[in-house]
Amino acid sequence: MRDTIKHQGLRNQLAKALKMKGISDENVLNAIRKIPRHLFIDSSFEAHAYQDKAFPIAAEQTISHPYTVAFQSQVLSVKKGDKVLEIGTGSGYQTAVLLELKAEVYSIERQHELFKKTAMFLPKLGYRPKRFIFGDGYKGLPEEAPFDSIIVTAGAPFVPKALLAQIKVGGKLLIPVGDKNQIMTLFLRKSPLEFEKKELGDFKFVPMLKKKN
Ligand code: SAH
Repeated sequence: MRDTIKHQGLRNQLAKALKMKGISDENVLNAIRKIPRHLFIDSSFEAHAYQDKAFPIAAEQTISHPYTVAFQSQVLSVKKGDKVLEIGTGSGYQTAVLLELKAEVYSIERQHELFKKTAMFLPKLGYRPKRFIFGDGYKGLPEEAPFDSIIVTAGAPFVPKALLAQIKVGGKLLIPVGDKNQIMTLFLRKSPLEFEKKELGDFKFVPMLKKKN
C-alpha cells in the first residue's frame, strides 16, 4: 500500500470531522492529517481507514477510533520532550500520534504477535519510540519512571496502583476504567500523595488483559 494525494484528502476530511466532534488542539489535528492510518490496518479495510471507525488488527485486538485517539491525545496536552508511557501499543497508531506531538514515548504491549509486528512496522514510517516493551502494562515501567503522562488504551477493570505511582507530580494518568464500557478517567498528581480525579465520558475499548502470554 502507498500513501497518495487521495489518502491525504481523506485525512483532511477526517480532521474536519474530528474538529466538529470537539477536537480543537491543532497539534493533534495536524498529527491526524499527517499519519497514514490506512497503513496501520489490513488492506481489506483501506476504503474505510479515514472514517471514524475501529478495525480488527492482529490477536483479536482493535485499532482505536480516530476520535478516541484524538480525544486521549488532546487531554494529555503533550509538550515537546514529555516522557510518555503508553500501555497497549496495538497497531502503533496512537504511538505515532504521540511521536508527532514530539513526546519521548515508551510503549508496552503484552501480546507478542502485535509487539513484534508493530516494533518492525513503525520505524519503517520513521516513527521511533524511545522503547518498545513486550510486557505487562499493569506493572508500568518502574525503571523509567516517573512520566509526565501515562496513557492506557485498553479498558482497565481497576486503576493499577503501580501506574499512579509512576507519574510525576504535575503529571497525568489517563485510563478508561470499566468492564464492558469504560469511563475515561484522568488522574492529576497534585503532590506525592494527592491525586485529582476527573471523569471525561463513556468509551468502549477492548479489555486490558491480566496475564502475560
Ligand atoms: N492504541 C492501540 C489500541 C489497541 S487495543 C491502537 O489504536 O492500535 C489495546 C491494546 O492493548 C491491544 O494491543 C492489547 O493487546 C493491549 N493490551 C491489553 N492488555 C494489556 C496489558 N496488560 N499490558 C499491555 N498491553 C495490553
